[in-house]
Amino acid sequence: MIWNPNKECMSRDEMRQLQGKRLNKLVNYVYHNVPFYRNKMQAMDISPEDIQSIDDIVKLPFTTKQDLRDNYPYGLQAAPPSEIVRVHASSGTTGNPTIVGYTRKDLAVWSEVMSRALTAYGVTRDDTFSVSYGYGLFTGGLGVHYGVENLGATVIPTSTGNTEKHIRLIRDLKISGIACTPSYALYLAETLDKMGLSKNDINLKVGAFGAEPWTENMRSEIQERLGLRGFNIYGLSEIMGPGVSYECQEQNGSHICEDHFYPEIINPETLEQLPLGEQGELVFTTLTKEGMPLLRYRTKDLCSLMADECACGRTSVRMGRIMGRSDDMLIIRGINVFPSQVESVILEIPEFEPQYMLVVDRINNLDTLQVQVEVRKDFFSDDIGRMLALKKRLSDKLKSVLSISADVKLMEPNSIERSQGKSKRVIDKRNI
Ligand code: ADP
Ligand code: ZN
Repeated sequence: MIWNPNKECMSRDEMRQLQGKRLNKLVNYVYHNVPFYRNKMQAMDISPEDIQSIDDIVKLPFTTKQDLRDNYPYGLQAAPPSEIVRVHASSGTTGNPTIVGYTRKDLAVWSEVMSRALTAYGVTRDDTFSVSYGYGLFTGGLGVHYGVENLGATVIPTSTGNTEKHIRLIRDLKISGIACTPSYALYLAETLDKMGLSKNDINLKVGAFGAEPWTENMRSEIQERLGLRGFNIYGLSEIMGPGVSYECQEQNGSHICEDHFYPEIINPETLEQLPLGEQGELVFTTLTKEGMPLLRYRTKDLCSLMADECACGRTSVRMGRIMGRSDDMLIIRGINVFPSQVESVILEIPEFEPQYMLVVDRINNLDTLQVQVEVRKDFFSDDIGRMLALKKRLSDKLKSVLSISADVKLMEPNSIERSQGKSKRVIDKRNI
């Protein structure tokens, strides 16, 4: 099923034309309403008339998270305060939160794109859907919430916390869909187990997982433990919130709502646009936003774009999985390491729980990486030989994937702190 075939299945030509028209309107709008952009454009000697088609986007200035911080709280707001009906803030994973105001129309667009996502996952009016993202200032909760209502399914605003009660609700209300972070999905699975229940006691069919990077191996793990099919959902508060892109049944990249959010991939060093298929930093321009529209916002998320046809019939450009944020990339002895690479390796070894922590330090001027990982209950033993062999298996695999050696520390079951929202997987003592 497709929620809005007119937009989701537009021909590429028509889409480019629509994007060009919307970009032209947007540039006029910010030029006249946001001094920050007017000044930037004047400094670059460009005026709104220079932007006629979507290809002209490369002439426009970028926007960074620092720009948002420098103009805290409302400096980049384009709509007058009387038009703003809601304010959210980013989670502040990498520093001070940024504040985003939405107009009534912005909220309607957000519900629309969320309904597209949910429909792509197979959610219908007959479903009961639990929203287990945080509702407080974070965009996840209310963003998905309004999408579910707009679709006409039943929304259960569970938020996070009180996980046992949540599981009883999932069972008693026959909840069929859930949106949460992948780490919270794992926590749910563990709690289910602790309550003496299994996936056969509940009816979950669909999970919309996002807000943090996760791997294919993590998908298999969650699917197996909760008995559902897990789909990727991507978004960020600066651009809108969840629903910027979503996976379809093909699960081969996430379709971007390109009529509202125009994607580019750039080389983060040269800032040049990269061709489709190449990995780089994802950049979005909000083509229709009124509250806080952004030109070429640098997300710091690293991925690639694909434009080949998708078997589902949608024609939109798709983004691959996010490898991580450029901020999450650890440079250890000169080698780039992403937590997601470590996750992938850990989950290939059945003796481990998908619970891990990377501890980076500098000892005698040399960077060190310790990978702490939980051993599953059934495999944890006093047999030192067995534990050493397990440790060696992981070190060898990590070495071949990361090209550096890591010190593996086997942890007892349940010893690494669980997360209900975005998980924290790295402690970098070099920064303390
Ligand atoms: P913050 O930047 O403070 O975490 P948000 O709460 O708006 O702010 O989170 C948006 C960020 O979350 C994205 O830029 C991205 O790094 C991450 N994210 C969201 N969805 C996904 C996803 N499906 N996969 C990987 N990362 C994601
Ligand atoms: Zn598709």
